[in-house]
Amino acid sequence: MDLYEYQARQLLEEQGIPTPKGIYAQNSHEVAEAAEKIGYPNVIKAQVKIGHRGQAGGVKLAKTRDEAILAAEDILPMTIHKHKVNGVLVAEGKNILHEYYVSISVDRSSRDYDVLATANGGTEVEEIAKEHPESVKRLHIEALDDFDIEAARQMAESIGFYHADVDQAADILLKMWRCFKENDATLVEINPLAKIGDPDDESSKMLCALDAKISLDDNAAFRHDGWKRFSDPMANDEYERRAKEHGLHYVHLNGQVGVIGNGAGLVMSSLDAVSGAGEDLGTGVKPANFLDIGGGASAEVMAASLEIVLSDPQVESVFINVYGGITSCEQVAKGILEALDSLSVVKPIVVRFDGNAAQEGLSILGASNNPNIHVASTMEDAAYEAARIASSAKEAN
Ligand code: GDP
Ligand code: MN
Repeated sequence: MDLYEYQARQLLEEQGIPTPKGIYAQNSHEVAEAAEKIGYPNVIKAQVKIGHRGQAGGVKLAKTRDEAILAAEDILPMTIHKHKVNGVLVAEGKNILHEYYVSISVDRSSRDYDVLATANGGTEVEEIAKEHPESVKRLHIEALDDFDIEAARQMAESIGFYHADVDQAADILLKMWRCFKENDATLVEINPLAKIGDPDDESSKMLCALDAKISLDDNAAFRHDGWKRFSDPMANDEYERRAKEHGLHYVHLNGQVGVIGNGAGLVMSSLDAVSGAGEDLGTGVKPANFLDIGGGASAEVMAASLEIVLSDPQVESVFINVYGGITSCEQVAKGILEALDSLSVVKPIVVRFDGNAAQEGLSILGASNNPNIHVASTMEDAAYEAARIASSAKEAN
């Protein structure tokens, strides 16, 4: 599990690593409030689980409340390298004197740990490391060995820290090591580890983590109850949890057409068909989810599936694609009708049946005269129809 920067910072803070104050915010109102609390200048930072946010325009300095709001309005709707932004960190803005890079990670090939450090930190760290590999210092730590203060000091000196900075850098490295071990992390990275302060005031200078990237080893989740606090609001755990309760396999995808089918392969093809139709229509309509109802398609299963899919506020239409096998399409049709009776929110539903009793199933649906039910004879037609309905709803919004 990768953490967001604001979560990773919490783990660094728990170890006592200096980190500028920050508040997580999800809309411009919250950002304005946070900015007033943090003070100015501050930095508004996109929270996405991918690096290079700075280069993509996802990190902006704000000197006033208005600038903070503008930055937030700019960043919140962004998608950075295919990762949708849904929150920002409002952090104290610091005057940076120098940017270092430090990380501790699991080296899977040698099955030990790697401590990496370079004085050329910041946004171009990879490029500079490629051109000047000698500037990156590396220390292997055997799986059962410890990283001690002597090794930490050597590491700090090797990348050019001197005087009091060595003590502080070594202290931070040791705390990173503790953070790494105690949290069963596979990566703890600080870039930049910044020397901050007033260039003319020696006493104001200090080292501070301005960005943090932490990955946790999912295999260790059983012994970290505290990880629940990291459950990702973007992963839509809530839908997935409810689906799991009914033995359904659901994955949230962020589009407008809900997709329900039986069998993973059929559902995957349905997703492709909806995406293709969305592209043809030129409206950017996409599948909202993957939902495989598996072998059974009883009224209860259908009701639970429709309820979960329709509780996603982005959904404008639903495409049900069922291949009748042991469960005949006739039973599925009855299930859909019963489900519709029990649901409070209903959106147009396009149904395509094939296999066992497909015709009978479609007849039952047709005879119901339910205005929300549309039937189609091929997967492409059904996907196109569902995408068309979602497109007009999207445009009307
Ligand atoms: P990344 O691009 O995803 O790695 O995001 P970072 O959090 O590392 O920010 C990118 C760059 O923005 C950093 O390397 C800094 O140069 C700059 N930056 C981040 N925080 C501050 C800050 O508090 N003050 C200033 N002046 N620059 C900052
Ligand atoms: Mn960074």
